[in-house]
Amino acid sequence: DSTATTPSRPAGKSKQQLNIRAELEKRQGGKPLLNLVVIGHVDAGKSTLMGHLLYLLGNVNKRTMHKYEQEAKKAGKASFAYAWVLDETGEERDRGVTMDVGMTKFETDSKVVTLMDAPGHKDFIPNMITGAAQADVAVLVVDASRGEFEAGFEAGGQTREHGLLVRSLGVTQLAVAVNKMDQVNWQQERFREIISKLGHFLKQAGFKDSDVYYIPTSGLSGENLTTRSKVADLTAWYTGPCLLEQIDAFKPPQRSVEKPFRLCVSDVFKDQGSGFCVTGKVEAGFIQTGDKALVMPPNETCTVKGITLHDEALDWAAAGDHVSLTVTGMDIIKINIGCIFCDPKEPIRACTRFRARILLFNIELPITQGFPVLLHYQTVSEPATIRKLVSILHKSSGEVLKKKPKCLSKGQNAVVEIQTQRPVALELYKDYKELGRFMLRYVGSTIAAGVVTEIKE
Ligand code: GDP
Repeated sequence: DSTATTPSRPAGKSKQQLNIRAELEKRQGGKPLLNLVVIGHVDAGKSTLMGHLLYLLGNVNKRTMHKYEQEAKKAGKASFAYAWVLDETGEERDRGVTMDVGMTKFETDSKVVTLMDAPGHKDFIPNMITGAAQADVAVLVVDASRGEFEAGFEAGGQTREHGLLVRSLGVTQLAVAVNKMDQVNWQQERFREIISKLGHFLKQAGFKDSDVYYIPTSGLSGENLTTRSKVADLTAWYTGPCLLEQIDAFKPPQRSVEKPFRLCVSDVFKDQGSGFCVTGKVEAGFIQTGDKALVMPPNETCTVKGITLHDEALDWAAAGDHVSLTVTGMDIIKINIGCIFCDPKEPIRACTRFRARILLFNIELPITQGFPVLLHYQTVSEPATIRKLVSILHKSSGEVLKKKPKCLSKGQNAVVEIQTQRPVALELYKDYKELGRFMLRYVGSTIAAGVVTEIKE
C-alpha cells in the first residue's frame, strides 16, 4: 500500500493518490476558475472596456498605462490607450483592431477569471471561435449610441452572429455591457430599447432570460466597471450590479474532472529546452507532470514534463484550466492546433466520417448532398462536406419529419453525415458535451451548429 509508506509528498504525488476534487478546493484559496470571452461588434468598445477594467483592478501598472497613453496620443488615437492594454503587438496597434485571442487573468471576490479578448473584425471570426470554444461565460459588448447598436445588430453585424456562436459553443450565461452610455446621456429609455431588442433575439438563440444580465457601462469613463457608478443621471434609474460584480456572480461551471483526460491544443510553440510547448484548455479529467499523453491525431505518445497555469508551474491541472504544457518525446511538426491530448488508456477516437444533429441558421442557399463546409470544432477548422442528408427533425420533439430529404433550408433541424478531408478527434455529445459540439461555416458565415451523435470511421 503506497499511501502508508508515503504519508505526505507535496510534489510529484502518484496519480492514484491525487484526490483531484480536494486539490481543486485547496487551490487559489478555493476560488473556482472561470474562462470568460468578450464578444461584440467591431468598435463596440470591447478592448477599451476590458482594458479599463484591468487597469482599475490594478493589473496594469500606472507606468505602463502612462506609456500606452503617450503612445496612443502620438498615434493620434488618445482614447485607444486602454485598448492597448490588451493588444500586444505593434501591428495590432497600427490597425487599432484586436486580432488574436489574447489571454489575461484577474480576480473577483469569489473567482479567478481567465479573460480571452475576442476580436470583433469580421475576418477574424475563426479566431473568435477558438476563444469562445474555451469559454464558460461571455460578456457581450454593445454600443448604445444611436445607429451604432442597430448597425451591430442588423444583418451583417456581429452582435447576432457572436451571440449565436457562443450559445452554440456551450456558453449559457451572458453579461451584456450596454456600453458608451455616456454617448446617450445615460438615458434609461435607450437602455430599455436595447434590452428589448436584444432580449428577444437572445431568447431565440437559446439563452434563458434568467441567465442574461444587462449592465449600463462606459468603458471610456469607467462607469459601472469595477464599482457601481455615481453618475446621477444613471443612479436615478439603475441600482444593479457593476460588471465586475456580475462576473463574480456567474455560477461556476461544472467540470468533468472525473472523466478521462482531454486537452484541445490551441497553440504550439518551440521551447528553449529540448521539448516544445502546447497551450490549450483541459476539457476533461486531469494531468500530472510526468504523465504520458496520447496525441490524436497523429496517434502518438509524448511525455508531459511541465505544466504552467497563469505563469505558475504546477504539478497538475484539471478540467477547466487553460494551461501550457511542456512536452518531450515527440516531433513538434506532428502537432497541430486542434490536436487532442488524451489519456492513453482511454483515448479519444479520430475519424473522417460522423453523424450529427444540426440546426441551420439563416442561410440563403439550400444545403444539398456534397455541400462543402468548414467544420469548426473546438480549436480546429477543417474542410468537410455534407456527405448525406439523413433526416429532417421536428424542432422541439425531435421526431423524424422526413427521411432522406433532397435539401435542407434555413431554421431546420436535421441529421446529416459529415465527411472531413483529414481525420479529426471527436467525442459523442452524450459522452462529453464540451467535445461533441461544432459549427459549420460556408464562405465566411456560420450556417449551422451541431452535435456529434455517431462516429462512423
Ligand atoms: P472594439 O473594436 O470593440 O475592441 O472597440 P474599441 O475598444 O477599440 O473602441 C472603439 C472606439 O470606441 C474607440 O474610439 C474607443 O475610444 C471608443 N469607446 C470605447 N468605449 C467607449 C465608451 O464607453 N464611450 C465612448 N464615448 N467611446 C468609447
